[in-house]
Amino acid sequence: MPIPYGRQSIDQEDINAVVNVLKSDFLTQGPVVPRFEEAIAGYVGARFAVASNSATSSLHLACMALGVGQGDYVWTSPTTFVASANCALYCGAQVDFVDIDPISHNMSVVKLREKLEAAKTKNILPKAVIPVHLTGLPCEMEEIHALSREYGFRIIEDASHAVGAHYRDTRIGDCRFSDIAIFSFHPVKIITTGEGGIALTNDKELARKMELLRSHGVTREAHELENSSLGPWYYEQQQLGYNYRMIELEAALGLTQLQKLDSFIDRRQNIAAQYNEYLADLPLQLPMVPSHARSSFHLYVILLRTEKLSRSHRQIFEMMREAQIAVNQHYMPVYLQPYYKRLGFEPGLCPQAEDYAVRAISLPIYPDISDGDFKQVVSVLRQCLS
Ligand SMILES: *Cc1c(COP(=O)(O)O)cnc(C)c1O
Repeated sequence: MPIPYGRQSIDQEDINAVVNVLKSDFLTQGPVVPRFEEAIAGYVGARFAVASNSATSSLHLACMALGVGQGDYVWTSPTTFVASANCALYCGAQVDFVDIDPISHNMSVVKLREKLEAAKTKNILPKAVIPVHLTGLPCEMEEIHALSREYGFRIIEDASHAVGAHYRDTRIGDCRFSDIAIFSFHPVKIITTGEGGIALTNDKELARKMELLRSHGVTREAHELENSSLGPWYYEQQQLGYNYRMIELEAALGLTQLQKLDSFIDRRQNIAAQYNEYLADLPLQLPMVPSHARSSFHLYVILLRTEKLSRSHRQIFEMMREAQIAVNQHYMPVYLQPYYKRLGFEPGLCPQAEDYAVRAISLPIYPDISDGDFKQVVSVLRQCLS
């Protein structure tokens, strides 16, 4: 099997936890999902957590809870997985993209400010901005938060990559500088539940809205009913919700995974430090982590200084894949996807993101990578760049 760019780490403790749920009374809507929600909220220091069946669903719930709808604009980074933008389209809103910073590759605060200034004069300010902590490196949240106060938009952090990351004296997910933050528990991410996501917030009302919409928009709570109860069976559907629930097996896996989160991150940082050392002399731009941040290193992305290389980005990709190293590209600008082009987006919108995409290569990084496989990656890459 090729060396993947990322994969899960599962041990006997994880397996036992899932098997125990299979033998229990509840496979869904039992006690484990609330325990998982409390554990994640406790870990990051947020007041509320609402788990779901994917980060994509959680992003959709977050947009709905903030009232994103037709006529609204939502801005995100072009350099992200499509789900960061699709969530706004699900709500009937329009999406736009803010170009990235050439060093961090996260949404550029300078570009954001410029775009806000321009949008203000045209009266088309965004309802929400979705910064994405690409690779697990936190965005400049303090600055983005200050801009949200100045221009009146809400913030959803797409922290799918950034479980366990730190920003200044906060943990990503504590929502110090945002309304809602989203984690993903897909198997390539930092910890996994198989499929799964969670929305964190300090706002009780937003949490309750997401909880209702996650489960059909249905409530049984006496104090929430619109009509008087007709009996003990009575429930009301008050909004058009979905079935976005996480199941008990997933939450059980998440709980045992969470216990290993810090050791996973230590290991990822250790691998990143080794790459930094072994690749330092090559014509590459390596990841930079400012001293006020701790990256969770979901990805280790190198940028080719193609002007100094005899082979192209594509040739190097093909050589590495040929050598059974499943390198990847995270990401081509979302607006260059065929679906987004049909919405009217054109090349040239975010030059920095476009330049990044033709130079970026994600190298394998995951806790269980063997020393042999790691050395193989470095050695093949050196050959490709020679
Ligand atoms: C993985 C990912 C998502 C979607 O996560 P799922 O849990 O697979 O739905 C959203 N945004 C980013 C940036 C991601 O990497």
